[in-house]
Amino acid sequence: DPRIAGISSSIRVIPDFPKPGIMFQDITTLLLDPKAFKDTIDLFVERYKGKDISVVAGIEARGFIFGPPIALAIGAKFVPMRKPNKLPETQKFPYKLVSCKEGNVIRVYIASREVISEKYSLEYGTDIMEMHVGAVQPGERALVVDDLIATGGTLCAAIKLLERVGVHVVESACVIELKELKGRERLVDKSLFVLISST
Ligand code: IMP
Repeated sequence: DPRIAGISSSIRVIPDFPKPGIMFQDITTLLLDPKAFKDTIDLFVERYKGKDISVVAGIEARGFIFGPPIALAIGAKFVPMRKPNKLPETQKFPYKLVSCKEGNVIRVYIASREVISEKYSLEYGTDIMEMHVGAVQPGERALVVDDLIATGGTLCAAIKLLERVGVHVVESACVIELKELKGRERLVDKSLFVLISST
């Protein structure tokens, strides 16, 4: 697709950030280029529109930038996959009655505020990802969005969390794949779509 070259050239590479030896792919320059940003979102929307996806799960923090415009365009809800201890959880009143009006019908349902966590490994050490159980229903179809896949540990954790609550993960989508780190292999049989493969 001719749009890929423009997206690729809008991404800045910063050597030795955040640690010596790391070539950091900085997507903030892509966001400064409205054409590149729009092309990025359009390419994902063209792929996922009409695919019966009801959930876009975005990974903190840069999945929060690319996920919501995709969700809005394909008519899906957005669910944040967060760093630990950010999502409000209440032990005392774990459920909340929620009502919504659909035409003339008022539906009342119970939204769980329960948070589930998944521990995962990073290049150095471990991290934890969390989501609200009540944000999704078993049987929903989800797309996972992040800016970049390196070792694949982050995407694996997000997929695991969604599958633990009975959600079917249709695909994971990233702007950039760092091919050398073989994250795609770690995802095993889980489908991955990227716009740019970088060595
Ligand atoms: P993984 O778990 O090793 O696949 O690392 C992917 C996660 O680290 C994603 O959430 C990325 O946002 C972040 N990440 C790793 N390297 C880079 C980079 O070069 N640029 C931007 N994000 C990165």
